[in-house]
Amino acid sequence: MYLTGGTGRSDGCLRVKGPCPRYAAGRAKPLTRPPPFAFRSVRLRYPNFVPNPSLLSDEVRIFRPGEPVQVVRAPMSIGAETYGLPGPVPTDAWHVLDHAVSVIHRVTPWATVIAAPTLVAEATYDDYPCREFLRRRDSEKNYVKLGGRSFGNEGLIALSLYSWSGYLISTAYHEAWHQLERILDKKILDEIDGHLIPLSWGSAYMDSMVERRARCFETWAMRFEEGMPGLRLSSQVDAIFDAAATGEIAKEWYKMQQKAARGR
Ligand SMILES: [Zn+2]
Repeated sequence: MYLTGGTGRSDGCLRVKGPCPRYAAGRAKPLTRPPPFAFRSVRLRYPNFVPNPSLLSDEVRIFRPGEPVQVVRAPMSIGAETYGLPGPVPTDAWHVLDHAVSVIHRVTPWATVIAAPTLVAEATYDDYPCREFLRRRDSEKNYVKLGGRSFGNEGLIALSLYSWSGYLISTAYHEAWHQLERILDKKILDEIDGHLIPLSWGSAYMDSMVERRARCFETWAMRFEEGMPGLRLSSQVDAIFDAAATGEIAKEWYKMQQKAARGR
């Protein structure tokens, strides 16, 4: 690497013509000792992880609340869309699937979770300008790979296992929020919206308040998944997200439903 020109600083490498002496010195001195700090031991969240090579790439698992897991073969249809198309063998996401489902069943205990090797949904470029589009041989329609999807009317959340494990958990929070929003008062949504700064990701889909709120919630929740310390309830939005993530909102909602049923 030859650097030319000057920065005006007497100590800067950029003044030197030819190989930067600092750079060369750094390269010439190999590390002979470990860095002067030790990694602290980490508590394994999933100590019993055993990769399961026998899981087939076209296996779709259905988790209905309070019922045994059902396994079906892909593809399966939800409404007009096809999910769980056979795809590449899933990655490490399998081993956190139970945790992802428990996240969804905590935030939205009524939701049925469908976990498929890949999620492919009919979509247009306008919906997802940043995604890779697929064309199925049997169709003229365009499809896009998704990490997850929430079907509000059906009370369904679909998760794609074709992602890394952390993303699966993050997606679980994201899609659960989409479900939860259906029972939230508009005042609560307005409160969250009021804290969001104006910005554009260059896509009407990404910029929609529905998507922004879901991304805010998943980001918020992932902090605690990683064990980051911090104030949980420093703002009204924190309080809302906390009540959502811990399942308090869902519990309140069930209580209200029961009360309404008794009053009938
Ligand atoms: Zn979303």
